[in-house]
Amino acid sequence: MIIVLGFPLMVVGQNAGYHRAERLMGCNFDLTVVAADEGSAKDYLDLAVAEIQRIERLISSWDSTSQTSAINRMAGTAPVVVDRELFDLIQRANGISRLTDGAFDLTYAALDRIWAFDGSMTRMPDREAVRASVAKVGYRHIRLDPESSSVYLPEAGMKIGFGAIGKGYAADRARELLERAGVKGGIINASGDLTAWGTRADGQEWKVAITNPLNREKAFAWFPISDRAVVTSGDYEKFVTFEGVRYTHIIDPRTGYPSSGIVSATVFAPKAELADALATAVFVMGIETGLDFINQLPEIDLIIVDEKNQLHVSNGIDLEVYRADN
Ligand code: ADP
Ligand code: MG
Repeated sequence: MIIVLGFPLMVVGQNAGYHRAERLMGCNFDLTVVAADEGSAKDYLDLAVAEIQRIERLISSWDSTSQTSAINRMAGTAPVVVDRELFDLIQRANGISRLTDGAFDLTYAALDRIWAFDGSMTRMPDREAVRASVAKVGYRHIRLDPESSSVYLPEAGMKIGFGAIGKGYAADRARELLERAGVKGGIINASGDLTAWGTRADGQEWKVAITNPLNREKAFAWFPISDRAVVTSGDYEKFVTFEGVRYTHIIDPRTGYPSSGIVSATVFAPKAELADALATAVFVMGIETGLDFINQLPEIDLIIVDEKNQLHVSNGIDLEVYRADN
């Protein structure tokens, strides 16, 4: 039997908690908190939304006034002094780059100039253009000075982007803030990048459903996710097809070419930030290397759907245990 599955879909039951949907960071966020009454729930949700908007202003590459845009604008010119928070995020991202052997890399963003996944591309960029852009990529080149909290991209044309880690980071931060504020349980779901803590209002554990892409109404399996994050990479809408090969919006920073072969990668990890970055890295690594890699990491699990809708899981995942009975 071929097992088919797609994006994890959080289904929040009626007694789960207070809930709000909001467009943030260019995607749909879905926030749920357990609270004593509607009034306090509203205050908590306002807090979380403000926190996510604050992070967006820090890391957005679209907002020309963000510190991230300043770093990119000053590439090849001068270091930019940034908030410690942004400095630390870049440092952690570079740590994940080392861990993934460069499959995840903030400086992939220089390649944004030659690849577009919104339907506007009509042919492959020529080799020379790819070669020239990939020369501007490499996390090792980012100069971080902890003394002055400054970041320098030493070459004109270098660029960083948080597309593969920002939503996860924002989800973690919103969760931390709410936990500190005393919220006993909740879920921050950034379009499939989610983190959960505590239990639902009715005392049951939070669960995430892995859905069947051929019938999104049906859950294929339910995974308990209390105090865990789960993130899916793979956007069914963002890809290009050239000569029968489907290229995704995730690019191998080492070659400059988009990855192919994986339709979605779902990573379970203690933190959404790490899960987010690893899900992206797995796309670049491919099925076999991705599974081997994840199997070596404690507390991290992986579900891959390939182009034939076939399922590949890491050693820690036993689908039979969690199989939904519908
Ligand atoms: P999704 O957008 O499907 O949730 P990701 O979290 O993996 O998936 O984010 C993909 C985005 O990350 C891309 O749209 C791009 O902005 C950025 N990106 C692409 N390739 C890489 C890479 N190798 N390393 C870091 N960021 C990347
Ligand atoms: Mg990611």
